[in-house]
Amino acid sequence: MTTFPEALPNKQQQRQLDRIPYQGKTNQELVREFMETFDHETPAEFMVPSEDTINLRRKLMEEEHLELLEEMKGRDKEKIAKELTDLLVVVYGTAIAYGIDADACMKEVHRSNMSKLGEDGKPLYREDGKVLKGPNFSPADLSDIV
Ligand SMILES: [Mg+2]
Repeated sequence: MTTFPEALPNKQQQRQLDRIPYQGKTNQELVREFMETFDHETPAEFMVPSEDTINLRRKLMEEEHLELLEEMKGRDKEKIAKELTDLLVVVYGTAIAYGIDADACMKEVHRSNMSKLGEDGKPLYREDGKVLKGPNFSPADLSDIV
């Protein structure tokens, strides 16, 4: 088997990496750290949160979604990146509030999405551009995860 050396970051990429703390943690781990630090509930297993928590999570996701849609009317990359990230934070936070492992769910949904490829490993498209499911498609199964 041929092996390739790990791609090393160039100097500019390394400077950017050095500037950003929390390397090596998943998005969910970062949001969990925030929620634990700020005394939010972070159940280890699925549970329906209190009505107050559900209402807060609904409000946060709606607000951040609307802020992102607003910034997408413009072309400011930093503002768009900020609002995209804010939305990710509240989505991960909502998963954590329900005790759902969003990292694991993401991997299973990605596995399912990639199983749509055709036998030749290439995407299949309908005439209008819709992605079709190949013969090896299998739907996401989150039953072992949640
Ligand atoms: Mg925001």
